[in-house]
This record gives sequence, structure tokens and C-alpha cells, in this order.
Amino acid sequence: MSQLVFYRKYRPQTFAQVINQKNVIKPLANALIHGQISHAYLFSGLRGTGKTTVARLLAKALNCQNRKSNEFESCNQCDSCKAINLGNALDLIEIDAASSGRVDDARSLRENIKFPPVSSKYKIFIIDEAHQMTKDAFDALLKTLEEPPSYVVFIFATTEPDKLPATILSRVERYDFKKLNLDDIISCLKSICKQEGIKFEEEALRLIAVYSEGGLRDAQSLLGQISLITNQNITKKSVEDLIGAINFERIRRFIVFLGKKDKEKALEFINNIFDEGYDLEVFNREVLNYLRKILLLKISPSLGKILEKEATSDEMTILFKQADLFDTPFLEKLLKRFIEIQVQLRRTPIPTLPFELGISEEL
Ligand SMILES: [Zn+2]
Repeated sequence: MSQLVFYRKYRPQTFAQVINQKNVIKPLANALIHGQISHAYLFSGLRGTGKTTVARLLAKALNCQNRKSNEFESCNQCDSCKAINLGNALDLIEIDAASSGRVDDARSLRENIKFPPVSSKYKIFIIDEAHQMTKDAFDALLKTLEEPPSYVVFIFATTEPDKLPATILSRVERYDFKKLNLDDIISCLKSICKQEGIKFEEEALRLIAVYSEGGLRDAQSLLGQISLITNQNITKKSVEDLIGAINFERIRRFIVFLGKKDKEKALEFINNIFDEGYDLEVFNREVLNYLRKILLLKISPSLGKILEKEATSDEMTILFKQADLFDTPFLEKLLKRFIEIQVQLRRTPIPTLPFELGISEEL
């Protein structure tokens, strides 16, 4: 079972099914009803808030063969709707700027824009993680945006709208997606459990929602994983165990960068988890606790006894191994530094800065 199975299966097929984004859906619906179609939209918001889902719904509505002029929902039955639902529509081009071949995306965009749609009214480009596009790709787009062919619609989705060039920002219609609240996510998880026949403890679903920090996709994916591990019986304890394991793995990767004094990777890591919406104070506390364990093991392996309550035996093996990456004075310096960072995190105007400074000076 893929981790995203629930996300795909329960992805909204109509605007009405989208959770808690009325401030986006309402104006979009109005524009569709009145035929006021823009050539470029910007959907911004945290991950898992529904940006690409709504982008697809908009694409579907624009190209639906049965949608009447006073309606905004697509029919989900015509060839175009069916093709989009199956992910094989020729006139909907989805580009993930974060992973697509950097050199090729500009060229293929330029080529692609030239040709009118194959079988629909509009040729629609959804560009995910748009802030990661190359300068060449932006230049190619800008030319099109200045004089867009009547059939082209771009939908940019991004977690970081401020990183888009001003020349692009000034040409898009912008929609800001809200972070979902806890209760919305919990009720969505609950409804999936009921439909799938999964047993659950209320507290377990709350924990999943809290851990996913307002991202529905993360919450659904976690639910899928835990349901699989627990044979469809989700308890609070099973959620705690899995979250603990995920956290341990995340911190472990960061500790390797520290041990190898790899500044670049360490800085990238911090900025990535911040982008993902991870609470840096929580993260730092976990790093401190992890480094503390390594320090104890360095002082004497027999101190491992103290840690047995806090770490599984697999985790202890990893901790012992990682102790070799550090000499004791370096470890002590790092621990002192991360204690300072904990204090600085409460006051800094730029959340990642205390880490960046610490990593730059200590590694
Ligand atoms: Zn349709």
C-alpha cells in the first residue's frame, strides 16, 4: 500500500468537498460562473492545504464539456473530466518544479505553450513548487504571460510566494490558502476510518492531526501507515510509537551532518524542515536530547543503561555508532551552542537564523 493511498482515494472531486478554503473557493466559483477566466493564478499556502487539489478542480471545471455557464462544478462524467480524474488528460500539464529536470523545464514549457489544446478549450499548466523554477523557465513563462495565447491558463502553486519574481507576481491572480485547523483534520480522518472500517481511539486521531501541523496530506499519509502497521486498529500508543520513530530518523540524519561537519547539508536540512512547517523549538529540543544521549555514551558505554527507557534497542545501536562521529570536546561545544539556540529561537526575527549562525560558526 502506498503511503498516499488515502490521500488519492479521498481527494475532493468537487469544490464542495474541499475542506475549509471558502475564501478561495467562493471567488473562484464566482469567476467560473461569470466566465471571468484569468491566464495565470497563484495558489499560495502551507503544504497539504489543498493547493494542487483545487488547481486540478479548476482545470477540470475550465475544460468540462458539460458545465453550463451558470455552474461552477464540473460534471465528473465527460471525457475531459474523466481524463483529468485518471491523470491522463492531454491538455493538463502538471510540472513539479522541485523535481523536474532543471535544464529541460524551460525548453519543454516553451515548446508546449506554442501548441493549442488537443481536445479541450484550454491548455492548462499546473506548476507545483513554482518558487523552485529556474530563471530560464521564469523567463520563458514571462514572455507568455505578457501576451498569453487565449487558450493558455497557468496555475502556480507554492509554499513560498515571496520567492517568485515580481514580474510574475504582478501578472497573476493570487489566492491564499489557509492552514487547516485541528478539528477539520480530525473529522476528515474520522470519516476515512469509518469508510475504511478502521478502529480508532479518539486521542490517536488528535495526535496524528497535531503532528501533521495543519497539513491534510501528511495526516492522511500517517493514518495510512499506522492503519497498515496496526492492522486497522489505531491506538494512541501506536501513533506515539510511529511518531517517535519518524522523529528519531529525522534527527539522526541531521546529527550525521553535524558529525561530518557538512555545513551545506546541515543548513539545507534546517531550511527544509522549516519550510515543511516543523516547529524549530521542538526540533532543537530533540537535537539537544539526542546529542545528550551521545555524550553519555561517549563518557561511558555503561551509561547506556540510563537511556534504555528512552530509546529502543535499534535506536541504541544507532546512537552507539554515531558516537564515533564526534570527539568529546566538539560534542560539548555543540551542546552548549544548541542550548543557546533554544533561547535565541524565542527572540529571533528570522526563525532559521540561530541555527544558521550556530552551524556556520561551529562546524
Ligand atoms: Zn465534465
